[in-house]
Amino acid sequence: MADLPFHDRTDFDNAERGFVAKLTPALIKAADGRVVWDNDSYDFLGGDCPETAHPSLWRQARLCAKQGLFEVTDGIYQVRGLDLSNMTIVEGRRGVIVTDPLVSTECAAAALRLYRDHRGDRPVTGLIYTHSHADHFGGARGVTDGADIPIIAPAHFMEHAVSENVYAGTAMNRRALYMYGQILPPSPEGQLGCGLGMATSTGTVSLIPPTVDITRTGQEETIDGVRVVFQLTPGTEAPAEMNFLFPDHRALCMAENATHNLHNVLTLRGALVRDARVWARYLTEAIALFADHADVAFASHHWPTWGKDAIVTFLSQQRDLYAYLHDQTVRMLNRGMTGSEIAEAMRMPPALEQAWHTHGYYGSVSHNVKAIYQRYLGWFDGNPAHLWEHPPVEQSRRYVECLGGATAVVALAERYVQQGDLRFAATLLNHAVFADQGDSSARELLAQVYTRMGHGAENATWRNFYLTGATELTTGRPSASTVSTTSPDLLTALTAEQIFDSLAIRVDGPNAWKERFAIDWHLTDLDECHRTTLSNGTLIHEKSPSGGRTDLTLRLTKQRLVGLISGEGADGIDHDGDLAVLDRLTSVLEQPTPDFPIVTP
Ligand SMILES: [Zn+2]
Repeated sequence: MADLPFHDRTDFDNAERGFVAKLTPALIKAADGRVVWDNDSYDFLGGDCPETAHPSLWRQARLCAKQGLFEVTDGIYQVRGLDLSNMTIVEGRRGVIVTDPLVSTECAAAALRLYRDHRGDRPVTGLIYTHSHADHFGGARGVTDGADIPIIAPAHFMEHAVSENVYAGTAMNRRALYMYGQILPPSPEGQLGCGLGMATSTGTVSLIPPTVDITRTGQEETIDGVRVVFQLTPGTEAPAEMNFLFPDHRALCMAENATHNLHNVLTLRGALVRDARVWARYLTEAIALFADHADVAFASHHWPTWGKDAIVTFLSQQRDLYAYLHDQTVRMLNRGMTGSEIAEAMRMPPALEQAWHTHGYYGSVSHNVKAIYQRYLGWFDGNPAHLWEHPPVEQSRRYVECLGGATAVVALAERYVQQGDLRFAATLLNHAVFADQGDSSARELLAQVYTRMGHGAENATWRNFYLTGATELTTGRPSASTVSTTSPDLLTALTAEQIFDSLAIRVDGPNAWKERFAIDWHLTDLDECHRTTLSNGTLIHEKSPSGGRTDLTLRLTKQRLVGLISGEGADGIDHDGDLAVLDRLTSVLEQPTPDFPIVTP
């Protein structure tokens, strides 16, 4: 830590370069007056790094908190610091092309207004989504209604934009609240951003479907007189993602494939594991395709990099970072090491240790290594002692009993705290809390340990998890997230199959064991027929069924179907057969639990 290059001001120069104006105050509200973004709450970062923060994370937070309109190069602007992500604005012949309209419509509208205040009231003549994550499309309706303009996205964008939150969405949302520290106050002791940006805004999420698919690398499109050359990068940071060059501006957009941190191979909120090998390969390809044609490289998070040599160094180091983690993890797992052993043994090359943008502010070496292990070998490490362990509460009760009871466990934990081994103190105290969640001395000490671990973390998402965990222990579990991933636009974008799949995962199996019925759903607007059959506690879906007997046939629009499963009644729906079957289906559906506890049983 002592030998990190704190004297090197390049990132600060780049984060301020081209500054045009701030949003003052940096407060964005929804129509009902609710604050959905407040960047001024991070003004405390102007001070020196306190004892309660890792100096490297404090530095990153200061960089991320810079907000306003910035000129990237002649004709290209970015609005940064008004949401988790950046909005990029390219001036065309008649108007502007917007790339990545932030998380929510309110922030996107405010960002565009800030641009127009300084560059004139130009219309939006094109929209580009770099990839399928909500912080890159959610604000779309804040900048355009989408009529008569090209909306460009990588192939399979819609499928992935909606699928990520369909099945495990409730659990991901819950864990995201811990990961982003949404209930922690921004303060030297609390939330310091999330490494990738400060936070996610809490306004209205929209989605306008793309009209132009990018299906191959080398594809060139001209939007409002601006040439764009695309590189498809599926399976990198997102399942549908692309980099692109504005050749006439000599400017390269790296989407979220190369940012100023080690990104996530597996995000802590939970997701499918990403492929670090493919990620590195596409960075190699990006250098080969674009490095000779760019004077600036920017992304949809963080600040740009100017100058060919700096761009090549930056992209090569990012590439080496993912490739090294991948190759070394696989090398070590082939020697029989497990994920946690590899994470402990992994040493990064000196040049990657010394660069700032390779540090784990969002992803981390530790959890990315375990993710790579998981991608290849899964949860089981091959040791049969781990094949059939007791679940947490049962295991903790036995540990506490063996260690001589709860009081003894807390005393032992105190000893480890004094020795500075907070990691093992947390393990002991976690057993005490899971064995008896009413044990206030264990809860208090564990909260203190988590707080110290959070304050010591270089990784912002680790900090947020530790500090939110401490909050759950001291003040009870936080209420559910206010961020909704079930906006009307997203629900409308679901395919019929996704809608029936999302019903199937709500069936309370044991309660439905004895039920058996079939329903045909004629979706009149799509001219599709779908059959759902409940048997053995399983709701099976079939498209275009041939023959067979059903108990109920419904004729309705997809929108009515969405309404029906979100609790609207069946009044007036055209049907044949027994409508009571619908009630039998509803009676075995379970509502997900959006506010489950995490650090307590
Ligand atoms: Zn993003």
